[in-house]
Amino acid sequence: MSDYPKPTSGPAGRKNSDRPFIRIDGLRKSYRNKGQESVALSNVTLDIHAGDMVSLVGPSGCGKSTLLKILSGLYEHDGGTLEIHADAQRNFNPGKDVGMVFQQPLLLKWRNILENVMLPADILGLPRSAARVRALELLDMVGLGGQGKKMPYELSGGMQQRAAIARALLHDPSLVLMDEPFGALDALTREKMNLEMLRIWEQSHKTFVVVTHSIQEAVFLGTHCAVLTAGPARMADFFPIALPAPRTLHVKATAEFTAYVSRIYDLLGVA
Ligand code: ADP
Repeated sequence: MSDYPKPTSGPAGRKNSDRPFIRIDGLRKSYRNKGQESVALSNVTLDIHAGDMVSLVGPSGCGKSTLLKILSGLYEHDGGTLEIHADAQRNFNPGKDVGMVFQQPLLLKWRNILENVMLPADILGLPRSAARVRALELLDMVGLGGQGKKMPYELSGGMQQRAAIARALLHDPSLVLMDEPFGALDALTREKMNLEMLRIWEQSHKTFVVVTHSIQEAVFLGTHCAVLTAGPARMADFFPIALPAPRTLHVKATAEFTAYVSRIYDLLGVA
C-alpha cells in the first residue's frame, strides 16, 4: 500500500483548513475479469473538507464500495486524480490514517471487547499500554464503558457495531470510512445508532464518509451528500445538508428534511 502523492501547498494566505482534505476529480475505475473490462466509476468529482460527514448514496452496484476501497488505499484508480492531504509534515498513509467500519462488526470471537478494540495497535505495532488507555476512552465514548471484559457474543448487534466503531478510531485515523454500517441492524436500533453516530462524529473531530442504502439515513447523518448514478457511477449531485443542529430524530418530520429526501429520490429517478 503506497502513500498518496504529497500535495502542493495551498495558495498564499490561505489556511490548510480552507483547502479540501480530499480532492476527487474525474475519478475512474474499471475492473478486468477474464479479459473483459467493466467500468465501475466513470467520472466522480467531489471535495471533502476536514471534519465533514459525507454520506454516499446510489443504486446497488453503482460503485460506492469501490470508491471507499480506493479511498482506503486498497484499490488503485485508473483515471482522474485523488489527493488526500495529511498535514504539512507528511504524506497521507492509508494504512495508518484510515479507519474502516463494515456492515458486520467482524469482531474476533476469541478476544474480549477491549482486546478487539485494541486490534489495530497489534497490527500497526503501536505500544500496547497507550493503546489500552485509548481503547478504554473510546469504549466510554461509544457508550460501552465497563463492557470491555465481555466477549462479543455477550453484546447485542448494536453494541457490537459500537465496538467496531471504537476499533476503527483506535489508531487515531484522520479519515473514517463506513460501508453500510447499520444495514444489519433492526429499524429502531438503527435510528438509535444514527443518533450515537452523530455524537461520536462530533466528539471525534474526524472526517467520515458513510455509504448507506437508506436515503433518510444519508440526509440525517450527512453534512454533505454525494449521489451517484447507476453504474458506471458518475456524480449525480453533491450538496451540503443544512439542517438545524443539534439533530434529533424529530428533524425527520420537518419540511427541510423531506425536501432533501425528495431531492435524492428525484436524482435517483425513484420518486
Ligand atoms: P456498490 O457498493 O455501489 O453496490 P460496488 O462498488 O460493490 O457497488 O460494485 C460496482 C461494480 O463493480 C459492480 O458492477 C460490481 O459487480 C463490480 N465489482 C466490484 N468489485 C469487483 C471486483 N473485485 N472485480 C470485478 N468487478 C467488481
